[in-house]
Amino acid sequence: MRPFAFHHADSASQAFRLGSGTGQGQVDASVQFLAGGTTLIDLMKLDVLRPQRVVNIDALKGSLQRIELSAEGLYLGALTTMAAAADHGEILDSYPVIAQSLKLAASAQLRNMATLGGNVLQKTRCTYYRDPSWSACNKRSPGSGCAAIHGFNRNHAVLGIDDTCISQYPGDFGVALMALDAQVDLIGSRDSRRIPFARLHRPLEGQPHIENILRPGELISGFFVPAGPWARRSLYVKVRDRESYEFALVAAAVAVDLDGETVRQARIGLGGMAYRPWRAEAAEQMLMGKPLNEASAAAAATVALEGARTHGYNDYKPELARRTLARALLGAKALTLAGQVS
Ligand code: FAD
Ligand code: SF4
Repeated sequence: MRPFAFHHADSASQAFRLGSGTGQGQVDASVQFLAGGTTLIDLMKLDVLRPQRVVNIDALKGSLQRIELSAEGLYLGALTTMAAAADHGEILDSYPVIAQSLKLAASAQLRNMATLGGNVLQKTRCTYYRDPSWSACNKRSPGSGCAAIHGFNRNHAVLGIDDTCISQYPGDFGVALMALDAQVDLIGSRDSRRIPFARLHRPLEGQPHIENILRPGELISGFFVPAGPWARRSLYVKVRDRESYEFALVAAAVAVDLDGETVRQARIGLGGMAYRPWRAEAAEQMLMGKPLNEASAAAAATVALEGARTHGYNDYKPELARRTLARALLGAKALTLAGQVS
């Protein structure tokens, strides 16, 4: 690990001041915030991230570690641990897809350390990115090429990619946030702003080294998930090589509002499949007004995977994703909700 200056921030404004550096939002940002440290320290040890300054934001827990449910929706502070949200009874009941996406992620020890703000900003698990002995990685070193395109790309993305990078966004929670139209709160220099979570991660556009839209020093303070008639009938299905402590090969976050068997509204996020947390809007549109059954779920899943591009070892992914999404939709339909006839 390279030498770096270590600071502690006692307030959001101090965090902002200390956190302002070059390339915020970029993979090689000169300043990094330390939350749980489960991504950051890992990548610093691997010599992938080389910040000159690390700012510990642990002291902001008083204001940024909170879970609040109201008639309007669910608020999750950025320093809330994954475990606290995953095991929260009201979240399990009212926003099950959120709790499940967190419970099925990482390990119990990691979930106790890791925060929600750090979770959504975790980096790809592309092995070529995580090993600097590979020189060709446009994300680590812009313009150097992409070792994964002709390499071992079994876990890599098939949606939202181009020839500069095919890396997969590995997180689960962000996929559930996408499906539920969440928003994210950011604290900046003069003001704070709330933006759709869907805008936090940038589309690839040939610039894999710029991952998000955060401004210099900007801090994620929390997430707001609006209440909706679909939130309770929601489900996270994750397919992986082993049943625990493993990233998704494919995941589907679904939420549906039904009138009998007919879909009033559907929300669909896909994980493990795309360059960034992915929303399958065309598939949602296709389901609206239709009975939810095997045929319509399969048809929606086909639409969701349109445009998928594979690179050899990941040729299996589109079909696995179609089956996973159809299973998730039918699983959500089968849920029996307290106080409601399914
Ligand atoms: P940190 O490591 O402290 O920070 C990560 C990044 O976010 C840094 O760049 C930091 O500057 C930035 N950051 C942190 N907080 C803020 C903030 N409030 N505002 C602005 N920037 C901020 N995740 C899954 O979703 N599913 C899995 O199956 C899974 N499996 C895992 C298995 C292993 C072995 C490991 C090590 C990790 C796994 N993870 C998985 C990832 C894990 O969930 C993340 O490492 C964790 O959530 C990151 O949170 P953190 O608080 O530790 O972030
Ligand atoms: Fe780097 Fe992206 Fe290629 Fe992986 S897929 S080697 S992260 S450019």
